[in-house]
Amino acid sequence: MSDQSNQDVKGRTALVTGSTSGIGLGVAKALVAAGANVMVNGRTPKGDVSAILDEIRGAGDGQVDYVSADLSQATEVARLVEETTTRLGAPDILVNNAGVQHVSPLEDFPAEKWELIISLNLSAAFHSTKACLGHMKTQGWGRIINVSSAHGIVASPFKSAYVAAKHGLNGLTKVTALEAAETGVTCNAICPGYVWTPLVAKQIDDQAKSHNIPKEDVIRDIILKPQPNKQFATVEEIGALTVFLCGMGGRSITGASLPVDGGWTAH
Ligand code: NAD
Repeated sequence: MSDQSNQDVKGRTALVTGSTSGIGLGVAKALVAAGANVMVNGRTPKGDVSAILDEIRGAGDGQVDYVSADLSQATEVARLVEETTTRLGAPDILVNNAGVQHVSPLEDFPAEKWELIISLNLSAAFHSTKACLGHMKTQGWGRIINVSSAHGIVASPFKSAYVAAKHGLNGLTKVTALEAAETGVTCNAICPGYVWTPLVAKQIDDQAKSHNIPKEDVIRDIILKPQPNKQFATVEEIGALTVFLCGMGGRSITGASLPVDGGWTAH
């Protein structure tokens, strides 16, 4: 992380959705470490996340606040942006990260899971971008980072809603970038392969049970099969890339879908 990245991030207001766990938590810590004031979000009541908020505060000097909101609801996205603006100022950095997964063959895929995944993994980013872009354009500086996936670039079977939502998110990223291109606002999608987080740990548990094989076999033969470097990426790597995109090195990077996937999408 360069000093220049920290210069650009210091004192900025950052809203990171789904930041009580996994990648969002790593991104929130990296932004606080770089000097941003960060609004943390998840679905959990505030009392239950006090240890997580303390962990994020421990990463640096920036202010840290929390709003619980169910971002599968457009009204809740609007409330989150309003609360952030009231408490910390209008977001200068928006990281759309909250997301869930459901794995099932198409014929059996529950319609309510489809609706949830499209609402949370795709529509929430539209609503938050719509609410935050005006301020960013007016001040001539803004960073929108959509946490997409390798599944925003390539598909896998049994993940119809997730793959559709992440491909859509990469499309939204390009449109946002083009509309904001002359205003000092960039928008990019980070596209991780597998990152070691609770979301992935649950997938490993589920697959070990359904195939009746040890977790180590699931990791080697199923999860990391498409990831050529055979390693999980870390949340710290995603945090560092986020800070980089906010800094000097990221000023001309916009509309990009950036794989962090150990070579997966090079196939
Ligand atoms: P995670 O399960 O560890 O964290 C998910 C976060 O989203 C939590 O903070 C949770 O509270 C929040 N959340 C869940 N439902 C919500 C809702 N309705 N409203 C608001 N917040 C909600 O997951 P993760 O692995 O850190 O994934 C984060 C993002 O990264 C997701 O968009 C996911 O698709 C993407 N991603 C993850 C991986 C991976 O390997 N872990 C790979 C590629 C992309």
